[in-house]
Amino acid sequence: MSAKLIKGTEIREEILEEITAEVKEIKEKHGVVPGLVTILVGQNPASISYVTLKIKTANRVGFKEIQDNQSETVSEADLLALIDRYNNDDSINGILVQLPLPKHIDEKKVLNAIDPDKDVDGFHPVNVGRLMIGGDEVKFPPCTPAGIQEMIVRAGVETSGAEVVVVGRSNIVGKPIANMMLQKGPGANSTVTVVHTRTRDLAAHCLRADILIVAAGVPGLVKPEWIKPGACVIDVGVNRVGEKVSEKTGKKIAVLKGDVDFDAAREIAGAITPVPGGVGPMTITMLMKNTLKSLKFSLGLA
Ligand code: NAP
Repeated sequence: MSAKLIKGTEIREEILEEITAEVKEIKEKHGVVPGLVTILVGQNPASISYVTLKIKTANRVGFKEIQDNQSETVSEADLLALIDRYNNDDSINGILVQLPLPKHIDEKKVLNAIDPDKDVDGFHPVNVGRLMIGGDEVKFPPCTPAGIQEMIVRAGVETSGAEVVVVGRSNIVGKPIANMMLQKGPGANSTVTVVHTRTRDLAAHCLRADILIVAAGVPGLVKPEWIKPGACVIDVGVNRVGEKVSEKTGKKIAVLKGDVDFDAAREIAGAITPVPGGVGPMTITMLMKNTLKSLKFSLGLA
C-alpha cells in the first residue's frame, strides 16, 4: 500500500494562517506586530532568493519587516554596531543575518553578537543550551528541526516510546532534532539513535525506526529494504541532481532529489515526506513562528 504523503506545502499553509490570525489578534489588543530584520551582506544570488522568500512570507503574515542590505565591503565593526542597534530596538523581535558572510568577517562573532532573545534562527550557543535543557527553557528551536517535529505531530504519528533514528549529526539538523525528540514532553518522549558515516551497519539501525529522519545530503542513500513497514519517513535531504526546463516559466530549474529512494520507499512506509514539497517549506514557516513567539515573550504572553 502506498504511504500517506506528509506535505510541507499544506502544513505551511495551515501554520501561516494560524500565525496571521494570532498577529491580527495581538495587533488589536496590544497595538504591535512582530518585527523581523533581515541583514544581507553583498549580492550572493542564492542569499538574495532566500531573503526574498523570507520577506514575502513575513509580509504575508502581517509582520513589520525590515530588509537591511549592506555592501560586500562593510567592515566587521560596522556590522557588529548594526546588530547592536537592532538588539536595542524594541520594535524588532527577530534578527537574521543571511549566511554566508564575506571572508573578511568572522561569521561566528557576528552570530554570537545577536541578542539570544532575538535569535529566531535558534543557533546562538545560549539557545542551543536552552534546547538541550528542554521544557520551559526552550525559546527558539532551530527552524528546520522544529519544522520536522511539527510535521510528525500534525501527521498524527505517535512519538512517545517510538524508536527514532536520525541519519546525520550536523549542528543545524541531525543533532538538534535528535535532542528535541528525546525530550520529556508532547511530540517527543522518543528513544533516539543518531547514525553517521562511522556507524557500523546503517541499514540495521534504520530498519528499527518507527520514525526515520534522514539528513545526510546523499541522494537515494536510504534504500527501501532499510525501512520498517509502516514507518514514518522524514526526508530532509535536498540534492541537486540535474536541471530541467520549468513548464510554468520556461526557465531552467534544478532537479531535486531527497536522501531516500522515494518511489520504492513509498510502498513500504506508512507516511513519507516528498522532496521537493516536504520539509523544505517548513523552515521559513517556523522562522515566522519563532518571531511571533519572540514578540509574545516580550509582551508576557508566552
Ligand atoms: P551536513 O552538515 O553535510 O551533515 C550531513 C550528515 O550526514 C553528517 O553528520 C554526515 O556524517 C552524515 N552522512 C553523510 N553521508 C553519510 C552516509 N553515507 N552514511 C551515514 N551518514 C552520512 O548536512 P546538513 O546541513 O545536516 O544537511 C543534510 C541535508 O539536508 C542536505 O541535503 C541539505 O541540503 C538538507 N537540508 C534541508 C533543509 C530544508 O529542507 N529546509 C535544511 C537544512 C538542510 P559525518 O558527521 O560522519 O560526516
